[in-house]
Amino acid sequence: MKRSDTIIVVGGGLVGLAVGQRLALSGREVVLIEKENRVAAHQSGHNSGVVHAGLYYTPGSLKARLCLEGRRLLFDYCQVKGITYDEVGKVVVATSSEQLARLDDIEARAHENKVADLRRIGLTELQELEPAASGLGALHSPHTAIVDFAAVANALAGDIADAGGQVRLAAQPTSIVETSSGVEIRLQSGELINGAKLIVCAGLGTDSVAALLGRPGAVRIVPFRGSYWRLVPTARQLVNGLIYPVPDPRYPFLGIHFTRVVGGDVLVGPNAALALGLEAYRRSIVGRDMLRLAQWPGFWRMAAQNWRTGLHEAMGSASRRHFTAGGRALVPGLDPADLEAGWAGIRAQAVDRRGHLLDDFVIDRSDHVTLVRNAPSPAATSSLAIARHIAAEI
Ligand SMILES: Cc1cc2nc3c(=O)[nH]c(=O)nc-3n(C[C@H](O)[C@H](O)[C@H](O)COP(=O)(O)OP(=O)(O)OC[C@H]3O[C@@H](n4cnc5c(N)ncnc54)[C@H](O)[C@@H]3O)c2cc1C
Repeated sequence: MKRSDTIIVVGGGLVGLAVGQRLALSGREVVLIEKENRVAAHQSGHNSGVVHAGLYYTPGSLKARLCLEGRRLLFDYCQVKGITYDEVGKVVVATSSEQLARLDDIEARAHENKVADLRRIGLTELQELEPAASGLGALHSPHTAIVDFAAVANALAGDIADAGGQVRLAAQPTSIVETSSGVEIRLQSGELINGAKLIVCAGLGTDSVAALLGRPGAVRIVPFRGSYWRLVPTARQLVNGLIYPVPDPRYPFLGIHFTRVVGGDVLVGPNAALALGLEAYRRSIVGRDMLRLAQWPGFWRMAAQNWRTGLHEAMGSASRRHFTAGGRALVPGLDPADLEAGWAGIRAQAVDRRGHLLDDFVIDRSDHVTLVRNAPSPAATSSLAIARHIAAEI
């Protein structure tokens, strides 16, 4: 078979598109395969729209490094493309003495990660920034920003096409064979594509592509649903920017927070409850996905270690009362009538055999295949830097 120089990317979310864009702009022939009929159909189009500044991440981790770099690259990209990028700023508010101690840890981490202009503030300054918020102390991150990630994804897809690459929508591999010189991918349509390299950035679909490759690996994707409510228009003045709680260090999720998004809406959420299927946006159970998870020992170990929190989150995931209580911890004047039902996103979170939720980004690489195994938040913020990292490696 004739050797091809094409690079095939699976996944039209921010990570796949950023990888495709980087390689296409550097002169490589790129074919990006996305199973939906639009880009950013899953995590990249169902998130909080926050450009994180890099406060929380373990110093030296990929997350810490690529979040900071990604934020800078994203800022520049949005300037060039005319996409709204608004530094509304974020406060992380401690509401108990135990949380104040954890705030110290986050502050130390943020300084180690070189997060610009992060400061500890007291109640008076908190209320100047966010008059409706209350707490014992807070961190202020003035450069945490908001952006429309779907607009970024569409711009990246446009760049790939402009550079002569292909973004194939409604296309899905049914078989992948690694050869001595590259990969051969058969699509559902029957078409065969040859490539020198394959880069898989499939989010919730990671395990099914890994199975086609014959590399199930040592982790599995567990879907965590994040539901949002939003403030009714008359209550939006309660929030100026982003108001976050101090996160529980046992989990990689940030806790119910207030997010002003591009366009003016204010979101309340997301929580984190086990989803009943990889793409179970409507809460219906997907038997095939749950069966697959039930066969993974890590799933049961995770369930055993976290059943109390899991049950609490699952019970509350639909309830106005749960979200009002979460929101009131930060904004005491919040009334249940201030909330209206929003929408949900589903996180692709890798879990290992011991039932541990992987914290850092994980990228496996062999001669011809790069497989992104774990790209949870802040991977939207970091996407352009993840792409630079992957492109440099191949
Ligand atoms: C509720 C929620 C809130 C979040 N908030 C933030 C935030 O504020 N800031 C931030 O930085 N990050 C946030 N994140 C995380 C961020 O959205 C993700 O980390 C990021 O979007 C991951 O991008 P991705 O390209 O890896 O995955 P995705 O966007 O999920 O893209 C994967 C793509 O692969 C496609 N695919 C899957 N299987 C196949 C297949 N077999 N063939 C072809 N295509 C396939 C899918 O259709 C999908 O389009 C949030 C995530 C969620 C769910």
